[in-house]
Amino acid sequence: MIIAIDYDNTYTAAPELWDQTIKLFQDAGHAVICITARTDGLRQPVLDSIGKLVPVIFSGSEWKREAAKKRGYAVDIFIDDMPEIIGPQHLLGK
Ligand SMILES: [Mg+2]
Repeated sequence: MIIAIDYDNTYTAAPELWDQTIKLFQDAGHAVICITARTDGLRQPVLDSIGKLVPVIFSGSEWKREAAKKRGYAVDIFIDDMPEIIGPQHLLGK
């Protein structure tokens, strides 16, 4: 699986816990990436923390799923405090 973890208010909510979780996923053979909407000037803290463990995608104003796909990652699971910016919402069951 490819697991994508958001940075602000997701990774930053519990960095040490996420570091352990990332290692568990990686040790089990899964790929973990970070996708954040942060833009220029705000990138360094990301690279200095979770960026030391996993590749980081800076999606800016793009949908996160599309930003990941363009960079070769077909993400299976997103972990994000703002799931509404992963992609356009398609309502089911109506
Ligand atoms: Mg967030």
